[in-house]
Parts: sequence; C-alpha cells; structure tokens
Amino acid sequence: MGSTIPKPRFLKKTVQELCVGTFRDVAVVPETAPVYTALEIFVDRRVSALPVINDAGTCGWASDPPISLCQAQKTYNNLDISVREALRQRTICLEGVLTCYPHETMEDVIDRMAKEQVHRLVLVDENQYPRGIVSLSDILQALVLTPAGIDALNS
Ligand code: AMP
Repeated sequence: MGSTIPKPRFLKKTVQELCVGTFRDVAVVPETAPVYTALEIFVDRRVSALPVINDAGTCGWASDPPISLCQAQKTYNNLDISVREALRQRTICLEGVLTCYPHETMEDVIDRMAKEQVHRLVLVDENQYPRGIVSLSDILQALVLTPAGIDALNS
C-alpha cells in the first residue's frame, strides 16, 4: 500500500541540491588524538558526533556520542588513550564510517540512516575527505520546522 503513495519530490533531489546539513566548519578529530581532546571538541563545538580522520585527512570513523569513546576502558578514567584505540575497543564496533556523497539523493540518505539506525552521516567527497554532516535533525528542520523551505524542496 505504501508504494502507491507518491513520494515527495525532494526525496529524489541530491544532498547537494537541497543543502540539508552542515557543510562548513565541520568539527573533526584526528584518530591519534587522545580521547580527552575529542571530549574537549565535543564540549567546545557542542556537536554530538565527530568524524575521525587519519593522517591523510580522510574519514575513517565517525565517533558517536562521547560516551562510546569512554566505553572502551569501562572505568572512564583513562582519557589518554587515542581515539583510534578507544573506537577499536568499544563493544559495539561499526564497520568504518557511515558516509554519504553530495550526489546522492535524500532518499538514499534517509534509507541508509534507517537501515543502519544512525542519526547522522558524514558527507564526504570522492577522496573521502569529510565535507559536512547530514543529521536527522537537519532533515527534520528542513522538512517540518522550516515551512518556507518545503516549497523549495518540492519544486
Ligand atoms: P545532531 O546533534 O546530530 O542533531 O546535529 C545538530 C547540528 O549539528 C546539525 O545541524 C548537524 O549538521 C551539526 N553537526 C553535527 N555534528 C557536527 C560536526 N562534527 N561538525 C559540525 N556540525 C555538526
């Protein structure tokens, strides 16, 4: 029955076209940085996830809320281990980072979020450099909370 309901047109538009997300000044953390540094960035930037970048500057992981970084040591008192090590040790281990590309449609992005049960994807370019964040809250903001935006999204 669901398939008979026409899909809103914005679902077929790309992330790039819709500009739904944060595309400037993305907060990231190097994988070699201590967990302490990551927590500082979380606090300073008031973000809930940090793309974790390797030496080449490409995105290898995305850290979820800070709690998952601390989870590694259970005692929550060794914040000197690297972000890479903390992510490696956490009990729920994601296979790499969940990303999306600017040319992907909003339907693809939403489907991936639902399938993987995550609240955000890291927008990367073709070289895997992090270029933005597309969060569920960005999508809700565009679709529900910004009425003026709906016409633009559907046109
Ligand atoms: P969220 O906490 O995932 O709902 O995201 C809230 C807002 O912060 C959204 O506009 C996201 O696009 C943005 N955001 C999330 N993570 C980051 C980040 N690491 N750097 C910059 N903006 C971010």
